[in-house]
Amino acid sequence: MTQGNINVSVENIFPLIKKFLYSDHEIFLRELISNATDATLKLKHLTSIGEIKTDYGTPKIEVAIDKDAKTLTISDQGIGMTGAEVEKYINQIAFSGAEEFLEKYKDTSKDSGIIGHFGLGFYSAFMVAEKVEIVTKSYKDEPAVRWICDGSPVYTLEEADKTKRGTDIILHIAEDSTEFLEESRIRELLLKYNKFMPVPIKFGTKTESLPLPEDAAEDAKAETVEVDNIINNPTPAWTKAPSELTDADYKQFYHELYPMQFEEPLFNIHLNVDYPFNLTGILYFPKLTNGLNIEKDKIQLYQNQVYVTDEVKGIVPDFLMLLRGVIDSPDIPLNVSRSYLQADGAVKKISSYITKKVADKMVSLFNENREDYEKKWNDIKIVIEYGMISEDKFFDKSDKFALYPTTDGKYYLWSELEEKLKPMQTDKDGNLVLLYATNEHDQHSYVQAANDKGYEVLLLDSPIVPHLIQKLETSKEKISFARVDADHLNNLIKKEDSAISKLNEEEKESLKKNIEEAVNDTKFSVQIEDLESTEAPFMITQPEFMRRMKDM
Ligand code: ADP
Ligand code: MG
Repeated sequence: MTQGNINVSVENIFPLIKKFLYSDHEIFLRELISNATDATLKLKHLTSIGEIKTDYGTPKIEVAIDKDAKTLTISDQGIGMTGAEVEKYINQIAFSGAEEFLEKYKDTSKDSGIIGHFGLGFYSAFMVAEKVEIVTKSYKDEPAVRWICDGSPVYTLEEADKTKRGTDIILHIAEDSTEFLEESRIRELLLKYNKFMPVPIKFGTKTESLPLPEDAAEDAKAETVEVDNIINNPTPAWTKAPSELTDADYKQFYHELYPMQFEEPLFNIHLNVDYPFNLTGILYFPKLTNGLNIEKDKIQLYQNQVYVTDEVKGIVPDFLMLLRGVIDSPDIPLNVSRSYLQADGAVKKISSYITKKVADKMVSLFNENREDYEKKWNDIKIVIEYGMISEDKFFDKSDKFALYPTTDGKYYLWSELEEKLKPMQTDKDGNLVLLYATNEHDQHSYVQAANDKGYEVLLLDSPIVPHLIQKLETSKEKISFARVDADHLNNLIKKEDSAISKLNEEEKESLKKNIEEAVNDTKFSVQIEDLESTEAPFMITQPEFMRRMKDM
């Protein structure tokens, strides 16, 4: 047997990074803009604590394509790097300057929004570039430097003549990646990953018309100006406090998130937690219409306002996959692999938090405006019922917001059902029997018959009703469900119901007499019953012994 060290030579590492680090080459742009954002947020933080004396101003990030030079440049006006810092942060693969910064300023930087984590993001540039240049000028009083590397372990570092603070990352795009020199492709990526990042991102310019002066002639043409084309909204709704937002703001953000959605959402749930993990976000209940594009418009996952993915399985409980919106958590790693994401402990906690939060919100929505909630029940029931079946904690709370509609348009909470129906609909074992229809139209005559007998019939028509019923029957005591067209009606024992008008004794006596005269046969007796039914207000019966004689 031989033993030895596997020899990883640095020469090999770039091709490895290029191939395996990220499955999606396109995320290089997300990484570089994240770094530019971090550099800007660091500047903001250092000015806020007085370590940098200049004014923070309004720094922005710029993305620019030069087709002739075949370059894509990402520029920022952040803290920049000194020559020594380039050697420290860039030349050391897997050394994260972001983590170092957070560690150094840990007392004050908790909410700084710094994105970086692993010290690998920068190298994703080599997935699309054959050569990368960094031209950077630190906020410190030191000369600017230029770093150039072609993806081999050899780099050059020299002084440069940049005078303004900040960093330009210049990618010399490789032959097999020229798609990233197309404006439309870059725009698409910026809108996908950077639409809500916290520093304004400029991509080209756009023409804007100036407002016409009041005394302008009717055919006057508005003057136009070229302005920065800022592609992102640096302060999306979920980063604000719920108290700052109106209903209209929530709706507007919904459309910002899903520009192709024209229906208004039904409810929104603003998530906001900082212990035991950080998470913000807004979830929406969409209106269930034929146009609902569940496949495309999914819940989006962000990390410090950087888009990560819309594959949220595992993070969002399954029953909430029909919802829309965003979840943002710095505790969700902007990670290399998705399977890692799903195995992550923080991620599991997030899922159960979301479940709890949605349940709490349903309780308050119901309590705040029951009428409105009832109106929307039809659109939200599938989500709620699915949650009741699949998440025990959600089920336990559902008594406070799950509704059980009847065929005649009433909506009961579980407690109300029990209270109202117990005296009327029990079987011989004392179980409350809940009659239900799954299709009001097809089962109409059965519903009618049950109604005529004074029973209420629930309308439970979602596709998962059999599971819901099973769940309720196994969880609740002394109840059972019976489909209205099954043979159950006759087994029900009803107590007298005083709500239905009855004849008094005198009236009964006189009615009985009248009928006996009409029948005029002593073999039969007439009974006036409290049947509460228009079908059979009285019965003509034969005594038991006479019936038997006839049968003999
Ligand atoms: P991470 O962002 O996870 O720390 P990266 O590989 O993306 O790792 O970047 C490495 C380090 O290089 C950063 O932490 C930062 O210190 C430095 N850096 C990268 N880009 C810039 C930039 N545009 N301005 C200033 N520093 C930068
Ligand atoms: Mg980074």
